[in-house]
Amino acid sequence: MDSQITTQWPPARLDVKAFARDAAQLSGQAPLSEWERLSEESQPGLQPPAVRWHAQGELRVQTGAPDQVWLHLQAQAHLPLICQRCLGPVLVPVEVDRSFRFVADEATAMALDDEAQEDLLVLSREFNLLELVEDEVILAMPLVPFHEVCPEHVPMSAIDPQFEQETDQRPHPFAALAGLKVGKSS
Ligand SMILES: [Zn+2]
Repeated sequence: MDSQITTQWPPARLDVKAFARDAAQLSGQAPLSEWERLSEESQPGLQPPAVRWHAQGELRVQTGAPDQVWLHLQAQAHLPLICQRCLGPVLVPVEVDRSFRFVADEATAMALDDEAQEDLLVLSREFNLLELVEDEVILAMPLVPFHEVCPEHVPMSAIDPQFEQETDQRPHPFAALAGLKVGKSS
């Protein structure tokens, strides 16, 4: 969000070690449509808010060992998915809050993977932070998305009689939205 910081630390080509050494921070947000893989997972028709993220670098000084490079990542997204209970559209909030330790290379990451509690990534001078944000949001997606309360349960007196019939086979695409409107006004 701070344009000066963003210029210094391009999020798609981040020098991770320098970012950690400077204890730098980086934030950003972008509409869901700009995240290619998230868009593929999403259902059209709903208007999700922008995906927001924040990254913080940290260098942990170790005695008798090389300093550790850490990156703490938070992200918030709302993904338009299909409710698996009523098959209507639902905006599912997704939260990411994870820390990553960066190691020298893939071999080190593989060797440490079993014993390390934390998530390990490979150091890069051109690390694509935005790709990590997208990866983590996808990982944090619920396997079975559903409404907390499905809108179909709201009585719908204003809906035409055809509606009842249609729901028996397939939900009307706007049924969930109509339900929400009725719910709010009552
Ligand atoms: Zn539902």
